[in-house]
Parts: sequence; C-alpha cells; structure tokens
Amino acid sequence: MTMTKRALPFAIIVGVLLCGAEESRACQDHDKFPGRRGPRPRRSDLGGRGPTDEASAASSTDVTYQCTAYSYAPLTAIQNSYPVQWTTATIQPNDTDATSLFGSINATLNSKFPTDLPRGTPAGDFSGVSYSSTDPDCWWTSTLCTTPNASTGLPADITNVPEPMTWGLGFDDGPNCSHNALYDYLLQENLKATMFYIGSNIFDWPLQALRAASDGHQICLHTWSHQYMTALSNEQAFAELYYTRKAVHDLLGVTPQCWRPPYGDVDNRIRTIAQALNLTTIIWSHDTKDDWEANTNGVTPAMIDANYQGIIDMALNGSFNTFGPVVLNHELDNYTMGEFMKYAPAIKSAFKQVVPIATAFNISQPYAESSVTFPTFSQVVSGSSTTPNVAVNVTQGQGAAAAVSAPAGSVTPSKAIRGVGNGGDNGGDGASLAVAAVVL
Ligand SMILES: [Zn+2]
Repeated sequence: MTMTKRALPFAIIVGVLLCGAEESRACQDHDKFPGRRGPRPRRSDLGGRGPTDEASAASSTDVTYQCTAYSYAPLTAIQNSYPVQWTTATIQPNDTDATSLFGSINATLNSKFPTDLPRGTPAGDFSGVSYSSTDPDCWWTSTLCTTPNASTGLPADITNVPEPMTWGLGFDDGPNCSHNALYDYLLQENLKATMFYIGSNIFDWPLQALRAASDGHQICLHTWSHQYMTALSNEQAFAELYYTRKAVHDLLGVTPQCWRPPYGDVDNRIRTIAQALNLTTIIWSHDTKDDWEANTNGVTPAMIDANYQGIIDMALNGSFNTFGPVVLNHELDNYTMGEFMKYAPAIKSAFKQVVPIATAFNISQPYAESSVTFPTFSQVVSGSSTTPNVAVNVTQGQGAAAAVSAPAGSVTPSKAIRGVGNGGDNGGDGASLAVAAVVL
C-alpha cells in the first residue's frame, strides 16, 4: 500500500500546533453548527421546545427542533456523579468503584511507564515536547505507530478488517443532535455502523444515543471531552474512558468494549489504560477528511469527494481483495453526514459488504453483556440478517433493566439491552492486524 500521507516527522510537530491527524478539533469552531462537538446551546438561546422522548427525537426532520436542548430526567438525576461536560474528566468524589479500579491500573502504569509522562496540552499543542525518534511508546501522533512492541504485551490497534472487500463502517463524534437524516438513511438501506460516541455528547443528546441502540448500531467510546489523550495524566485518561463507558451503560444498559482515540492520539501508556478497561483500540486505515478541515486549511469539498472516490476505486481495482478498510467518517455536522449518504450507493456497489467493525471481525457479542448479540458475518453475507425491525422498549435510567421485545427469528442485533453491571472481559475484538495506517 502506498502511504499518501505520512505521519508528521516529530521535528515538524514540535513547535507547531498540531492540526492534522484525525480531525484535530484543536482548531475547530465548535459553535459553527448545531450539534457539533462542544457545549450545546442553552435552551433559552434557542427558544421553542425540544424533543421529549426517543420517538419525538427520532421522528423529526427539523434540524432546529432536533437540536433544541432538552432535559432527560434519567441522566439529570445522575449527572452529579459524572465529570462536568466538555471538561477534562477526573475521578469524581466518593466514586469508590472508579477509585479502586484506577488504583490497580495506576500501579501497573507506574511500574511499566515510570517516565512516560503526559506530553503537550490536551488541545494538541506539542510545542517543545521532546520525544525519541525511535518511538519507544508507539505514539501514533508521532509516527502513525499502531503495533506496540511485542514485549509490551499490548495488542496492535485495529486499523482495518479481515474480511475482503468489506467496508468497516463507523462514524465519530456523535451523538449529533441532527443525525436523523443519516440514521434514517442507514435504516432505509439496512446499514449498521459503529458509532464512536463522546461522553459529553451522550449527556447533551441522550435521546439521539438511544436511537443508535434502537437502530442496532454498535456503540464504541470516543472519550469524555474529546481531547488529546497522551496529554492527560493517568487519572484523567482513565476517567475520560471510564465515565464515557459508564454513561453508555447507565443510558443504554450495555458496556462497550472498543474505543477510538480522538485525533488518533494514543501511545502505550494510554493503550494500557484502555486494555485494563477491556477496550480495544480502533484507529482507521482510510480517512475521508470529512471533518473540521472541510472547507478550511486547504481541504475542499472536491478533495473530500476525491477521498471517497479513491477508496471506492481501490475496491474496484482489487486493493481490498485480502482485507477491508476501516474508514474514518464523522457524524459531525450535516455536511459530513451528507457526504457519506452521497457516496453510499457507490460504496455499496463497489464493496461486497458494508458492516460495523464488530461484524467485520465476526464478533457477535460486541458488549460485555452476553444478552446482546449481533449477527455473525456469515449471516450478514447470506442476507439472513436483513430484518431491521427489532422492536425496542428501553427503560432508561441508571442501571435500568430494559424491557426486551425482539421478534422471533430476528438476527439483527438483539437489543436485549439490560442493566447488567460490570463484567465481561472478553479481551476485545481479537485479531491484531499489523498493517500500517494509511491515511488518504
Ligand atoms: Zn473525534
């Protein structure tokens, strides 16, 4: 494979504000679009009345209505036990579970990485950071490293999927308040995806997160406040993952086992924290650049179109005859979501399968809870999993047990969403793929 964009040599990174990588929101205008990552507008600023339940949130095609701030009692009731939204997470006072778990993890971290300290700033300013060119920590931001040295005992990050001609479909940065057009489209086309959700966005838009579960998408984590993880302390990095995982569990009753580092910023210290939380690190093989750079920094819509077309062309020319790409897409705003919908027909035509990353790894139990099952890859291939209409009746709230109503014979994600406590340490998504990240 040809690397059309290489990692920035560290000499270049030093002294500049890093604005590249995944989506480098360090430079992003969070308030440009409703629903973009960042603090949501206050209700009083928007006027009107927002969604009140999952159905009203999911059925609207009015972006203004969808993005009108609302309160959701089950999360409001537990909000005080979480970090403040859009601030760097820390372990909350009196959270004995988190304190205990972090204590054991931190002992390992202090033993394995006594000198691997946070670097730069959480906003991605690595000015003046000194780091060895030998990349001892497998720091993605420095070298695009995704395969830690075997001596670390850490698995390689997932960068693509083992199934040939298969597009591993995922969207970062949700839940976006105005994602109904995209989610309606995915439902219509019977497409499921892996949604990398930000904890603070879950608290902002819980009804939208509920829709993702109801629609049968796989939920992975994308940290609490979407900052550069290698710039955070052990406790902060732990808390960014811990409270996002907890938010998904408290709202949806499932415990994700995968995460994607914002901007791809991960090293062995952060991977160790993720591993201790049973979270597989997922990077990507191809970047559509459908992110904050759109229309800025020289990234034009034509270039994003070309990126999409380039990945499609690779399927057509045999480049994916032995594996499939994990493609970086975003539900960041209506433009990024629209770009995927524009190219989806061509993608579906060029690729044999377009599936969530879990499915491309033939993982039928994506969460810690064994009660939730996804179709196997072979079931998707055979078409036996095409039934999208799984009735879901989720009783939301902390630790809530959910009523389950799934039609007999359905092989779509079972939605057997239950308020199961901790547990499950299945070790993540399995296969390690020693394939270097290729960023278009
Ligand atoms: Zn992101």
